[in-house]
Amino acid sequence: MSDRLEEKNPISRRKFIQISGALTAGSTLSSGLMPNRVFAGFQEEKQPKIKKFKTLGRTGFQASDVSMGGTRVREANIFRYAYDCGVNYFDVAEGYHNGDAERELGKALKHMERKKVFITTKLHLDPDESEESILNRFRECLKRLDTNYIDALYMHSVKKVSLLDKPEFHSAIAKLKADGKLRFNGLSSHGPRRDSEDSMEKVMLAAAEDGRFDLMLFIYNFMNRESGDKILKACKENNVGATAMKTSPGVLKVDDYNSDQPTEEQESRLRRYRRRYDSQEEIDQKMKEWINNQKETMKKIQPFVDKYGVKTEEQLRINSIRWILQNPDMHTVCVSFKDFDFIDKLIPFSGEKLDEQSTGFLNNFKDIYSNQYCRHGCTDCISTCPELVPVSTIMRYAYYYEHQGREKEAIQKYQKLSDMNVSKCNDCTAPCLNSCQHHIDIPRQLSKAHQMLTLA
Ligand code: SF4
Ligand code: SF4
Repeated sequence: MSDRLEEKNPISRRKFIQISGALTAGSTLSSGLMPNRVFAGFQEEKQPKIKKFKTLGRTGFQASDVSMGGTRVREANIFRYAYDCGVNYFDVAEGYHNGDAERELGKALKHMERKKVFITTKLHLDPDESEESILNRFRECLKRLDTNYIDALYMHSVKKVSLLDKPEFHSAIAKLKADGKLRFNGLSSHGPRRDSEDSMEKVMLAAAEDGRFDLMLFIYNFMNRESGDKILKACKENNVGATAMKTSPGVLKVDDYNSDQPTEEQESRLRRYRRRYDSQEEIDQKMKEWINNQKETMKKIQPFVDKYGVKTEEQLRINSIRWILQNPDMHTVCVSFKDFDFIDKLIPFSGEKLDEQSTGFLNNFKDIYSNQYCRHGCTDCISTCPELVPVSTIMRYAYYYEHQGREKEAIQKYQKLSDMNVSKCNDCTAPCLNSCQHHIDIPRQLSKAHQMLTLA
């Protein structure tokens, strides 16, 4: 990928798609389909533009209200296109696609005005990690991003308050700042995996109090706002830059099934069933069960689909993000764009208020789906489980699989849980059953997640 051509002139998206051949406007840009060129920019007649910028806490940076995360991006031109639309905050991590997200952003950065963008990257830290190791890993991030400095380095997915105090991290940050290689530092959290770990809320509130963290990236959506609101308040009081992630609950699945013309998602499910089951009978049976589930879902949501006209997961996602955009205390919403189309669909809502119709939809949706959506980062039920199964972590992996198109990664993450997985539930009397304040049927949901995440 390093020998890619760099194009000096901007290009239209239509032309880009012609050059890249197999790509279509809405397709995922997988590494196999890369156009082998990084373009200087995009010139569209009707390019959507960011309309609102907010001060990112004490950094003072004016961040676009919609920012871009690199969890799903493996193509520099998507970053470049977002920049042309006014997005100026880009978030990647050492661990995203083994550094490829950083590499692709680095290529796109060549065609951006460096001072006008805010680049963040993240490192998972071991409790016993040395300062030298942190500095070395950071230098590798700099190389992959191909830039002289990084705006912010985050501790990635912090699971224990005690890690916040890690002297080796703070001394490394001080050195990097003194060398002009780094401007700010922050942290992200997804909540705990084990009962010995701390909730996202606890970690973030402690970090705000600590005073050494300039930025925070945390889970926030309309179904899961209680702890997020507390964190936001702490960010405001301590002038910390606040970025939202995991912005949509993603439980709306309404595609009709036509066996002659399955949707992309249905086709991918069929492929998995074919790999897993030997006989056509079993495959048909599994597909039938899944379709029946879909139909049940359809039946439930039909009244408000009719009322609000929202019937796809993408529409739900856009509305969920719009709900956050109108919050004056959330500085930016980090969206994992994976194609041009979603950028075109979402950016027009920058700076816009959520209308009454959409607010009504989200409230209605929240009521109906409350007992199906396990809140990311929640730990409330873990103490009821004698086996300490990490419920919200497993549900989050299922979310990556089902709603973010990160199937392989979700399966790998689930495999890493090894003996902490759902197999523990097999001989259990399920004392967790009534422990969720949102009335989630924990054993049933876990069993569904397990089926999905072991469907390799
Ligand atoms: S099932 Fe309920 S209590 Fe358990 S982690 Fe999910 S939201 Fe929290
Ligand atoms: S059913 Fe599973 S999650 Fe629930 S208490 Fe038993 S082992 Fe824990």
